Amino acid sequence: MDRNAAKFIQLCQLFNISFDYFIRTTEEKHANFVREVFKKIYEKGEIYKGIYRGLYCPLCEEFKGEEDLIDGKCPEHGVEVEYLEEENYFFRLSKYQTKILELLEKNFIIPEKRKHEVLERVRRGLKDISITRPNLTWGIKAPVNEEHTIYVWVDALFNYISAIYPENLKYWPADVHLIGKGINWFHSVLWPALLLAAGFELPKKIVVHGYLNIEGKKISKSAGNFIDPFELAQKYEVDSIRYFFLRNFPMFEDGDFREELLRERNNTELVANIGNFVYRVLSFTFTKFDGKVPQPQELNEEDQRLVGEINQIPKLVGEEIEGFRLNRALEKINEFAISCNQYFQAKRPWKTLDPNSIYLGMNAVRSLAILLAPFTPSSSQKLWRQLNLKGSIQEEGWDSASELRIFPGHIINRPEPLFKKL
Ligand SMILES: [Zn+2]
Repeated sequence: MDRNAAKFIQLCQLFNISFDYFIRTTEEKHANFVREVFKKIYEKGEIYKGIYRGLYCPLCEEFKGEEDLIDGKCPEHGVEVEYLEEENYFFRLSKYQTKILELLEKNFIIPEKRKHEVLERVRRGLKDISITRPNLTWGIKAPVNEEHTIYVWVDALFNYISAIYPENLKYWPADVHLIGKGINWFHSVLWPALLLAAGFELPKKIVVHGYLNIEGKKISKSAGNFIDPFELAQKYEVDSIRYFFLRNFPMFEDGDFREELLRERNNTELVANIGNFVYRVLSFTFTKFDGKVPQPQELNEEDQRLVGEINQIPKLVGEEIEGFRLNRALEKINEFAISCNQYFQAKRPWKTLDPNSIYLGMNAVRSLAILLAPFTPSSSQKLWRQLNLKGSIQEEGWDSASELRIFPGHIINRPEPLFKKL
């Protein structure tokens, strides 16, 4: 357990993934919070003692109905489920049927497909569910009966609040819970019902992503069908990997990982399109203008068109990000870079020494550095330094990518190609 948690932290560091707080549900602070909330819900009469008779998947740690199974097996794990008969504490989930339906009919779950799956199941009727199990060695003890352990999902879901409780509770409710499709039910039905019972506000959105396959097959450690991200990062630049995953797979669909696709995206888009434009502008300025941005002349129609695109691009890309369509966001960035390349090509500054194409091209490069920062952060930083710009991209702000903020007379550093061909 400790070793796995450490690996996840290392993985985040290696892939430049930042987080405010890394919680483990073994923390004392978390356990105390869960016990406190359990007690509160119990005292409201929303938890009662009863006998559970039915099926249980030990890997999901979830009670299953016959209708959930495929050939008598857990659809998620493909293992036989167990028959159980034991004393449990139950949560009155059935009482929340109407409220959950109302919630789901709004745009609580993204995408629609996942919303309908859950809606259909809720419409068939919610039953009360067991939320404790007797005689387990591992887990948080129920405060009302020490022989019972709180159901792991009830325990786990409350981590979203225990992590910020009490000193940062102002951040609740969450704007988004980003989850995989296998745990949608817990987040979209059980979690809101528990929150309503405990008197907390509900998160604003549940965004459900797809699964990753490898070479057309399900990821399975036992079948040896998996990718070790640490090995992948030894073979390829972290930014190329990040770019590939964000660019290649629509977030709501299942994706199929193939290494040749990673190389292809890297070569055709990062290197031949975005990197090519950036390097052309910078190296031409460096060699022909001593690295100094020239004074522009009156802008002609082509120049105006590029300025118009620069003005628009952060909004276009931002809308895709807001809608969790990250692949489309990168598509928009690529289209912008294609357009920039065409502009530069048409201007032929190597023949004309046209100052406008250098001045505007440099500003388009600056916009690209800002737009790419969430996707390829270390390359964006590198580019920022090559542009010899002060401060950080974060401080500069997303919307400033729409402006021309590199001025005549500004001197850039020696450029280097940003991305390597694979
Ligand atoms: Zn299972």
